[in-house]
Amino acid sequence: MPTEAEVELLIADCTLWDGRAPDPLPHAGIWLRDRVIHWTGPMAACPSEARGAPCLDATGLTAIPGLIDAHLHVCWNGREPVHSLVHRDRDALLLEAVQTLERILASGTTAVRDVGGQEYMEMSLRRAVQAGHIRGPRMRTAGQIICMTGGHGHVVAREADGPEEVRKAAREQIKAGADLVKLMATGGAATPGQEVQATQLTVEEMAAAVQAAHAMGRRVAAHCHGTQGILDAVAAGVDSVEHGTYLTEEAAQRMVARGTALVLTLGVARPDETGHTPAQQAEAERLRPVLAALNDRVRESIAIARAHGVFIGAGSDAGGNALAPHDFSMAREVEHLVQMGFSAQEALTVATRHNARILGWESLLGTLEPGKRADVALLEGNPLEDLGALRRVAAVVQDGRRVL
Ligand SMILES: [Zn+2]
Repeated sequence: MPTEAEVELLIADCTLWDGRAPDPLPHAGIWLRDRVIHWTGPMAACPSEARGAPCLDATGLTAIPGLIDAHLHVCWNGREPVHSLVHRDRDALLLEAVQTLERILASGTTAVRDVGGQEYMEMSLRRAVQAGHIRGPRMRTAGQIICMTGGHGHVVAREADGPEEVRKAAREQIKAGADLVKLMATGGAATPGQEVQATQLTVEEMAAAVQAAHAMGRRVAAHCHGTQGILDAVAAGVDSVEHGTYLTEEAAQRMVARGTALVLTLGVARPDETGHTPAQQAEAERLRPVLAALNDRVRESIAIARAHGVFIGAGSDAGGNALAPHDFSMAREVEHLVQMGFSAQEALTVATRHNARILGWESLLGTLEPGKRADVALLEGNPLEDLGALRRVAAVVQDGRRVL
């Protein structure tokens, strides 16, 4: 076995989209060494030292930065509702999540942000990936979501009321190993009987969590559909508004002023309508009217966000409900961004460079340039011309090693 420092790879003769340049570079090479990108450029200018490295012939393939999913839930399979999964055998859930992580990695997604887990299984999974015991994307994890008593996601949440208890709840997540804190500012579609426009945690409660998290160098993400919830979360100082469905001009202006990011989750509100089990069908029928309402409004919100220059990231929300499987879910998200008017290049930039910043890993990930970690997806075809290429993953390189 070579040591870490000896791992070396030359990805030869690919089409390279590095996440920065508008156009891909044909006949390019990427030289990976010591887990980082050492050189990129035209093969004709390939350093002679790189030519001696083990070679991955990427003729006909396009290399892009590994996709990053800024909003998902790895503990749940996305085929069964969370409120049923919580009653299942914990070990079985954990083992299924191991398979989920493999699938995510195989779809070219090399980093994810888990914004709500179950009994800290997601922390164990993160540690197992870091230790090399299982294969999966790099992970940021929030631990338990924090909601008001009876709030959105309460079946898996740390319920907390009042600023002091919410502060304690945030500190508990950080103690358990959380990289970020997740708050519920409004109701949600996945929790039966909730109103998505209704506010839940108050400004004072969220501000207490933000203060506790920021003091320990962690960011805060807030689930927000309704407008007042967005305004409250921004006023409380959260770092990202998740979903952001009923964004208004005023809310967008405040987000820009405070540097609050918007993490869109378009795919989860537009589930595939085919191949459902009877239980999924029932869930689809329950969710259809509320998802339709969210879909109608989010187009307007995206226009407002883009017009005001709100920083945009995106996540699949895979696992978040029974209609959100971990099945090329970031490819789907990019497709939905394009359907909402983003160019393919803009959508891919959101799914790579922007999401790296949402995860706080912008110095490590998100572009293919020297010095960054060597996380690369190799696709059959060029996704800038044909988004279908995102589902034709020929190889995945993570930390400079080929893992698929
Ligand atoms: Zn979610």
